[in-house]
Amino acid sequence: MEIVKIVMPTPYDVGDVNAFLIKGDALSIVDVGPKTKEAYEALEFGIKRAGYRFNDIEQVILTHHHPDHAGWVDAFPNAEILGHEYIDHWMKKTEEFLNYREEFYKMYLIKQAVPEGYIQKILRIRRDMELYGSTPLTKYIKDGDEVPGHPGLMVYYTPGHAQSHFIFHHQRTKEVIGGDILLEKIASNPLIEPPVDLSFDRPKSLVQYQESLQFLTTLEISKLYTGHGNEIVNVKELVDMRLEKDSQRTNQVYEILSEPKTVYEVTKELYPAVYESQLGLTLSKTQGYLDVLVKEERIRFELVGGHEIYSRI
Ligand SMILES: [Zn+2]
Repeated sequence: MEIVKIVMPTPYDVGDVNAFLIKGDALSIVDVGPKTKEAYEALEFGIKRAGYRFNDIEQVILTHHHPDHAGWVDAFPNAEILGHEYIDHWMKKTEEFLNYREEFYKMYLIKQAVPEGYIQKILRIRRDMELYGSTPLTKYIKDGDEVPGHPGLMVYYTPGHAQSHFIFHHQRTKEVIGGDILLEKIASNPLIEPPVDLSFDRPKSLVQYQESLQFLTTLEISKLYTGHGNEIVNVKELVDMRLEKDSQRTNQVYEILSEPKTVYEVTKELYPAVYESQLGLTLSKTQGYLDVLVKEERIRFELVGGHEIYSRI
């Protein structure tokens, strides 16, 4: 598989993001960067250096809906846009969906016992969707599909980091374009997101993510192309490292639960230095460790006055 990597800057803490031009029967690009002027210029430069123009790209294929990956879908006038159907909600941004999403987050922030002032702040940040694209998908792909125009390139659904997350595995070359499933330098955060069926059942993002990592280790992989940073060849080793780190954190949360606590209380103890400045992210992480402990039947929770109170079993 002919793969050309294009690196773009992002305004996010994660730093640069990668896109991949792939030439098969079709000319496609996997991921397209955030909708900033700087990312557009880097994208244009990379496509030009490979000998093409935006007009030549026949397919935009998205690993997931996050803005650092799906912003510039709007820059490809002749391309089909492929991805998980969940992405369409973020592209279309209907009033109905935006209201649902706000209700979803509000409900869980209350359950987590987050103070009202912080809830409003988190909701305000979530409302900012400036760097998202707005071109609806033209084709939905799903787990087990072969990517159109790329014989042997299989689609696998790997939720956790995002509810729309796919990886693409080439059956012959064993190369994988992995989005943010596994990154070389940093852990990939399983964020709390509304479920794909737009119900009010919160997906257990970290539980899903760990299952996706386990699945990744069952694939034969020659090289994993990542959403941020360098390619990875020692996939199994790195997955073990990430799972080990998670397991240490999970045990730390168990220790913190020497007496019953809310998610917000655990978050403050687990991340004393950064919980205030990165509340959305740290709440997601704490919730993830609690979900794992519930699944392992080491803790349980009960609803008291609208808040989930977690305690050891
Ligand atoms: Zn990313």
